[in-house]
Amino acid sequence: MNEIKGRKVFVIGAGFCGLSSAALLAKEGFDVTVLEKNDRPGGRAMVWKKDGYTFDMGPSWYMMLEAFDNLFAQFGKKPEDYYETIRLNPHYRVFFSESESLDIMDDMNKNYELFDTFEKDGGKKLKNFIESSQKMYDIAVNKFLYRDYWSVRDLLDKTLIIDGLKLHIFKKLNKYAKKFFTSDKARKIVQYHVAFVGASPPTSPAVYSMLAHVDMNLGIWYPMGGFGTIVDGIMKLAQEQGAKIEFSTEVSKIVVEDKKAKKIITNKGEFEADIILSTGDYHHGEMELLDKKYRSYTEKYWKKKMIAPSAFLVYLGLNKKLNNFLHHNFYFNSDWDKYFDQLFENPEWPDDPSIYITVPSKSDPSLAPPGKELMTILVLVSPDLEDMESHREPYFDKILQKVENITGESFRDSIEVKRIVAHEHFNKTFNAYKGTALGLAHTLFQTALFRPHHKSDKVNNLYYAGHYTHPGVGVPVTIISAQLACEKIVDDVKKDLV
Ligand SMILES: Cc1cc2nc3c(=O)[nH]c(=O)nc-3n(C[C@H](O)[C@H](O)[C@H](O)COP(=O)(O)OP(=O)(O)OC[C@H]3O[C@@H](n4cnc5c(N)ncnc54)[C@H](O)[C@@H]3O)c2cc1C
Repeated sequence: MNEIKGRKVFVIGAGFCGLSSAALLAKEGFDVTVLEKNDRPGGRAMVWKKDGYTFDMGPSWYMMLEAFDNLFAQFGKKPEDYYETIRLNPHYRVFFSESESLDIMDDMNKNYELFDTFEKDGGKKLKNFIESSQKMYDIAVNKFLYRDYWSVRDLLDKTLIIDGLKLHIFKKLNKYAKKFFTSDKARKIVQYHVAFVGASPPTSPAVYSMLAHVDMNLGIWYPMGGFGTIVDGIMKLAQEQGAKIEFSTEVSKIVVEDKKAKKIITNKGEFEADIILSTGDYHHGEMELLDKKYRSYTEKYWKKKMIAPSAFLVYLGLNKKLNNFLHHNFYFNSDWDKYFDQLFENPEWPDDPSIYITVPSKSDPSLAPPGKELMTILVLVSPDLEDMESHREPYFDKILQKVENITGESFRDSIEVKRIVAHEHFNKTFNAYKGTALGLAHTLFQTALFRPHHKSDKVNNLYYAGHYTHPGVGVPVTIISAQLACEKIVDDVKKDLV
């Protein structure tokens, strides 16, 4: 029966991937229900409101707008029909120490001038770097991100390989950046992005230097009202197509018979399913929801994988305005080798980590009460650490001290709202593997074909999408992952494979 109309699809998870999938599948004519364990949408991009403050608990960088445009265009819509965006200038501030900070601007000539102060011909070198980075981005968008990988044959794209080799996309990112720059500052500014897709410069391929083009050329944008407005926009899109969304509904088992998922069991009852698309953490979806014989990947497989970092996150409501912060701010610690080693190789709570501090109320005063400021502090930490309640307050104190020192601005006495979360939050709230914030790291051998697939090997009507799958971590690419999984579902139904 290769009919789509009326087929019951259950999507597990109402994060960006689950909501985008629901919209796309409902548009095709499927009868779609999203089952979400939490009482609100967004997944990692959940919103938390307290005492007049609106916190985005996850993403804060709105980049790669074409992925969002592309999604909405499939419904004859534009993102502006659902939420308003602004382009940030400056993009962000970087603190290197107590005495050194600089701003990356939305004007490349200013950035070239800045890089000239780092090293001889720094601006010219940045221009060359960004030109290559743009070429890599174009290859990625045209040849790599929007297609799926099922076998080695799919990797054998002549242009991808020839152009890729010319651009050294398979070289390690840290070695690649060293080819261009001698100064530590320049190297850090063009590489830091990979940490936020759950990777490190010494382990990720140079293709991720395309993120420097995304940052400096395509710009850093912000959705007014916060990321929750994008979540609400995509949820509305899904509901307009007829998708139903059930909150506080946790899936505890997928019942399989004869290689077919028949039933989905939840805390709210059991549902007969024709097709299931799981967008929660892949490890949870396989190891906890399926009987052993129906899992495509073993525990041994997961143990060998490089899991992306967890995060030590602090949400603060401050009863005063701040002067020394922009919307986005970084502290780049001096010894990156040590920090990345503590993150990926030898798990340890970092004593001097890089720190990301966002104060979105700088661009959007609606997020905090009048005269007040909202801040989130993020430290990426290894997923293999013990997140003890007793450790959180002392670690927070250490990080806060550092932030106050480097920015030269004290605000500890102005804190009126505070919440600290780490691994346990990701475990309990999202069923995350090892409390990872970002899913599966991006190494060369965890890219494309080498990420867990969009379809189960053992269950004919069970599909997966989200940040563990191709293309990977980050809101825009999880939306692309939804598109790829949905295309596969439609294709399989049309070929009568489901
Ligand atoms: C702190 C932080 C900052 C980030 N910053 C950025 C950024 O600035 N820009 C950017 O682009 N990306 C950023 N990211 C990454 C981005 O948020 C994620 O890649 C993306 O949101 C993942 O979406 P997803 O739908 O794949 O997964 P999720 O958001 O994890 O959604 C999966 C959903 O499945 C639900 N679920 C799990 N198990 C079950 C079950 N058994 N039954 C029912 N429901 C279940 C979960 O509750 C969850 O809602 C950040 C992530 C974090 C954590």
